[in-house]
Amino acid sequence: MTIHDFAKHLDIKKTEKMPVVFVGHGNPMNAITENIYRKSWIKLGKDLARPHATLCISAHWLTGRDTAVTMTERPKTIHDFYGFPPELYEVHYNAPGAPLEAGSVRTTVTSSEIRPDLDRGLDHGAWSVLSNMYPEADVPVFQLSIAYERPMNYHRDLAKELGFLRQRGVLIVASGNLVHNLQKIRWEQNAKPYDWALEFDAFVKKSIESGNEKALIDYKNLGALADMAHPTNDHYLPLIYAASLRDKTDGFRFFSEGIDAGSVSMRSVIFS
Ligand code: ZN
Repeated sequence: MTIHDFAKHLDIKKTEKMPVVFVGHGNPMNAITENIYRKSWIKLGKDLARPHATLCISAHWLTGRDTAVTMTERPKTIHDFYGFPPELYEVHYNAPGAPLEAGSVRTTVTSSEIRPDLDRGLDHGAWSVLSNMYPEADVPVFQLSIAYERPMNYHRDLAKELGFLRQRGVLIVASGNLVHNLQKIRWEQNAKPYDWALEFDAFVKKSIESGNEKALIDYKNLGALADMAHPTNDHYLPLIYAASLRDKTDGFRFFSEGIDAGSVSMRSVIFS
């Protein structure tokens, strides 16, 4: 059966439009320790209508010029970090994959060719959040990579083409951080946020409040401030997907906020 046949055989009834979420995931330990961010993920999973599947676009799956989608039936848990306590490596999130939904992305998106990935599992940008939102691991999940060498308008155009998933009951979870500078991390407890971290976080907040998608895309216009907030923009790009998927009819709600370790914004937003 070809991928096109798969799409034809899909028989998934239309549901109410699902929200789009941007989650700040931060420190991988947030997945298993007591903290306000984890609490917000647990609450979010309980508050939202149950999705048919979840698509995660994570800062931790970067590909070069191509975009890939996981077609895995049983995605493994990837522990893509070093030097953390053993209990974090013992987390295995056994949610099933969603190859039919992944196939529908391949057949629907026309702005770029989406490469099928038959092996890739779930990175911690995905499982740290989803294992708390859906602890029973009973919501199928698939991931879309970030083509890291592509310009902003590539990501914006691709994101806009993913909107059909919302009508199919797929919850889109973009996972990154709105400020992310690991070189500047302050390790002490209750570290004071840097002024530039607060300033960039406020810029994103204001741009979301005013619906200024263009300001978010052109964030490099902020010059040195943008470079401090994101020395590399892997954790910012998921926001571009979420913001570009926002419909004119969507409202927004910030369901988490705060600057962690001085230089990591945990601000999270839901569009619905
Ligand atoms: Zn991360």
